[in-house]
Amino acid sequence: MNLRAKLVPEARLEVVNADSAGSRIGLVERTVLGPPVGVPIGPIKISLLSAEELTQRLVGHAFGTETQHVVTANAQFYVLAEERADFRECIQGADYVCADGVSIVVACKWLGRAKATRIPGVDLVTDLCKEAASLGLRVFFLGGNPGSAERSAAILTERFPGLQVAGISCPPKGFLSDPEMLNEALSEIKESHAAILFVALGAPLQEFFIRDYVRPMNIPVAIGIGGSLDIIAGEFKRAPQYIQ
Ligand code: UDP
Repeated sequence: MNLRAKLVPEARLEVVNADSAGSRIGLVERTVLGPPVGVPIGPIKISLLSAEELTQRLVGHAFGTETQHVVTANAQFYVLAEERADFRECIQGADYVCADGVSIVVACKWLGRAKATRIPGVDLVTDLCKEAASLGLRVFFLGGNPGSAERSAAILTERFPGLQVAGISCPPKGFLSDPEMLNEALSEIKESHAAILFVALGAPLQEFFIRDYVRPMNIPVAIGIGGSLDIIAGEFKRAPQYIQ
């Protein structure tokens, strides 16, 4: 019995006939997805997708061959985009920019007259790992504080049995300006054949890293997740709800 899935309108991935948890799925029917509807708030266009819609789209893309760059934006991204044209252009070149911060949701409502859902990076990692475990999609964790990626991978694997961790890499800070360390990290990512890459280097490094190094590798889904691995690993608590 083969795993079969088809993308139905609105980019929902419907598992038609699952073989067993963790098996690689054969995507028998795939709809080419258009870009998400977005609302421009200043220089950044925020994608107007629910958490579920975003996850399902990314799962669909995870079977593809071209990198989809996902940005989890908070207020700090606006400060950076204001200050730096290179960062602004990098974000404008991303495929999805979700609102990871109440201030952005509020800005969408009052400035854009649009309803954006807050999608925290931690939730996106968790939702995607859940789907990845059931569909056999390989995930890679890069960055975070020392030990966070390993701990997060262990926690997520225990929570979602069958999750295939294609790789974990936590190079020291400054590795991007050390050609040897950079090449080592890039080789690990490339050889992992990961479908989903979580990049926890903080902004703006993670966004430039995805644009400059991951896109050319065609890892299907690459997401900048800031300090999410530190949170999943239990190192940091989330901010109180009212300031998220
Ligand atoms: N980080 C890293 N390598 C670097 C710089 C940062 O792994 O060269 C990690 C850092 O250890 C932290 C994560 O990036 O775990 C996110 O940092 P920050 O809290 O600044 O990001 P934010 O969540 O605010 O985007």
